[in-house]
Amino acid sequence: MLHKWGLGPTPGCDCGYEKQTAIHIADDCNTRRLQGGMKELHRATIGAVQWLNSLDIQI
Ligand SMILES: [Zn+2]
Repeated sequence: MLHKWGLGPTPGCDCGYEKQTAIHIADDCNTRRLQGGMKELHRATIGAVQWLNSLDIQI
C-alpha cells in the first residue's frame, strides 16, 4: 500500500516476493506469515491478534 500511495519505493516485499499484499504477508511470506494464514486472521484469534500487533509493518 505504501507504494500505491507514493510513500514506498517498490511494491515488493523485502522477502523478495514481487508484491507485498496482505494475503502474501499472512499466507506466504517467508519472514512474516501467520500460522493458519488469512483464515486465522479473519477469525481474529488471540494468536492472530498477537501476530498482527507484532508485525513490523501495517496491513
Ligand atoms: Zn514477503
